[in-house]
Amino acid sequence: MMLNRQRCDELSRNWHQVVTEVAEYCQQFGRGDDDVRVIGVTKYVDVHTTQALIQAGCRDVGESRPQLLWDKADQIGDATSLTWHLIGHLQRNKVRRVLRFPVWIHSIDSPRILDAVADEAVGQQKSIPVLLEANISGDSSKTGMTPDELRQLVDQLPGNGVQIKGLMAMAGLGSDAKTAREQFAQTRELRDELSQRCGLELPELSMGMSGDFPDAIAEGATMVRIGTRLFKST
Ligand SMILES: *Cc1c(COP(=O)(O)O)cnc(C)c1O
Repeated sequence: MMLNRQRCDELSRNWHQVVTEVAEYCQQFGRGDDDVRVIGVTKYVDVHTTQALIQAGCRDVGESRPQLLWDKADQIGDATSLTWHLIGHLQRNKVRRVLRFPVWIHSIDSPRILDAVADEAVGQQKSIPVLLEANISGDSSKTGMTPDELRQLVDQLPGNGVQIKGLMAMAGLGSDAKTAREQFAQTRELRDELSQRCGLELPELSMGMSGDFPDAIAEGATMVRIGTRLFKST
């Protein structure tokens, strides 16, 4: 089903509203105009709604399931120079199909999956930007690696196929604003430590969602992953 005009307008307003707010928070917290990229998380919606969001101006599309990412990427094609962002768990048997598209992988949650991505990327003659997923809250329901696991991982990075861009993190389930902000600050500090340790810049911090992106921007997010806010009816 194609979307009606009214819904397209609503999605467009939502998109521009979020982009405007992100710019305002960047100003408020002393961040540069282009410091924060908005990833439109389309895991809740079908391909038509995803396309309407792209029409509104979104160029970075996030999906949490590999199969939905490649289904949508296949249907939408690359005419609009999109970048896809995988933000959920990646299984090794899905790496090959995900890597066919221009993709960032935010959810590297083990050394094994990092090696699998690097190997496949080398095979496809690509270099894939990836983020290491940190579990900062200690929340066992959240995925990601502990600070110690991350330290071990950056001591043995693959040589080719991946560009380690930084960290991805989520605030713990049910965190209040103060706790979420502390966790974002800890993510930034962990990034600084890991950067020192492995000698890579690690410029990117993917953190902040619909409910907590202002705090993430305050603490240095360079990518915010926004879903719910984009699709609500006004
Ligand atoms: C769903 C999801 C988001 C978007 O969350 P909203 O609260 O809907 O904005 C961001 N990051 C990850 C990892 C997600 O799974």
